[in-house]
Amino acid sequence: MNEFFKSSKEVIESQKKLMFPCMPKYRQPVVIVEGRGALVKDLDGKLYIDLFAGYAAVNIGHCHPKVVEAITYWAKRIHHTSYDYYNLPSALLAEKLVKILPMEGDKKVFFCVSGAEAIEGSIKLMKKYMLKNKGKTGIEVLTLRYSFHGRTHMATALTGQSKYKKGMATVSTIPGVKIVPAPYCYRCPFKMEYPECNLFCAYYIEDIIRFETSTDIGAFLAEPVLGEGGIIVPPKEYFKEVVKIIRDYDGLFIADEVQTGFARTGKIFGIENFEVEPDIIAMAKGITSGLPLGAIGAKAEIANAFESGDHSSTWGPNAVSCAAASAVIDVILKENIPEKVDELGKYFISGIEELAKKHRLIGDVRGLGLMIGVELVRDRAEKTPAVKEAIKVRNYMRESGFLIGAGGAFGSTLRIEPPLMITKEQIDRALEALDQALKKVE
Ligand code: PMP
Repeated sequence: MNEFFKSSKEVIESQKKLMFPCMPKYRQPVVIVEGRGALVKDLDGKLYIDLFAGYAAVNIGHCHPKVVEAITYWAKRIHHTSYDYYNLPSALLAEKLVKILPMEGDKKVFFCVSGAEAIEGSIKLMKKYMLKNKGKTGIEVLTLRYSFHGRTHMATALTGQSKYKKGMATVSTIPGVKIVPAPYCYRCPFKMEYPECNLFCAYYIEDIIRFETSTDIGAFLAEPVLGEGGIIVPPKEYFKEVVKIIRDYDGLFIADEVQTGFARTGKIFGIENFEVEPDIIAMAKGITSGLPLGAIGAKAEIANAFESGDHSSTWGPNAVSCAAASAVIDVILKENIPEKVDELGKYFISGIEELAKKHRLIGDVRGLGLMIGVELVRDRAEKTPAVKEAIKVRNYMRESGFLIGAGGAFGSTLRIEPPLMITKEQIDRALEALDQALKKVE
């Protein structure tokens, strides 16, 4: 199975030579060969507690036995059929997925391969619906500053962060995409304080619509919790208010649940924390807990705007990936994962808040469920992003056997998004390691 490499060093050297240089600047020198639950092992035999789950994707844990069982069963029978034919795993998944989508009434789904593809498909569907059902030809889409929606052309244009667009002006912007200020309370764009602000950022969106757009709004696209932006959790009434405004302009609400979906935030879908119904949902990552699959869910009336041939994806109904997703949904429901995540998340966050009392480097601790951000700052008054320090903390964590993310819009947020099966004992060990790492860096 491995006729080339004798050590991690050899793998890393080969990758540096052969892969496109768009790989992450701080790619971690860890060659993962095995994973189980929240644990992974590297080629040199070192064990790590994984607190980042492959970009917050391996939700029910590495190689969950139910996923392994489902994919090995189908791997021996059929992998791929295309949408020209039918297969059992994708039919089963459609049945299970429509039952958990947080929307009233009839719903329909579509399967593709990645999050970016689910976003692209959601926007195409919305455009078709606006044209056919509302007679709107030119429409505008609102997205949030600090958002992330993927790396394809349209997804990059919808993303509210310049770092993903550098050197790509004109391909990373699309007319009709309007990026609006985000509800990032720690760095409020209006220098206000919640709740005294009375949700100014939400109501300000109406001003933007009235004076900076054609007012022909197609949709508001947003992540319930902004992941890549630095785990930014909007105030609980935020989405209700914004979506009310969007609906006043006859627009749809598209929830990007690529990162927040499948129990990550303590609810099956992140938007369920905000008591508002989306019209379209884009999904990926945690849907399979480790295999490539994206999905779009929509109210049937909207989904029906697509006509035969309007959209497709070769691997979309892939039998193996769909079987994994079915197993994930079963596990989430049977094992009451959202409730457990809610409890574990609160436990983890309160542990970090304790650390914040003694580590001045911690500027803000925020999160929902096991989607946790720890924003590091050089000084608490100025909130100067502690970018190098965040990288150092991440490296110390890795050396002591913990994998975490470091990033966010300002580059200084530690991202803690472990597999959801992580135990309290593993969280305690992670808190201890974080304490030590912060001490060393300070
Ligand atoms: N949307 C969100 C919210 C994401 O976090 C990501 C991936 N980080 C994407 C879209 C893109 O997903 P993918 O990498 O599967 O294309």
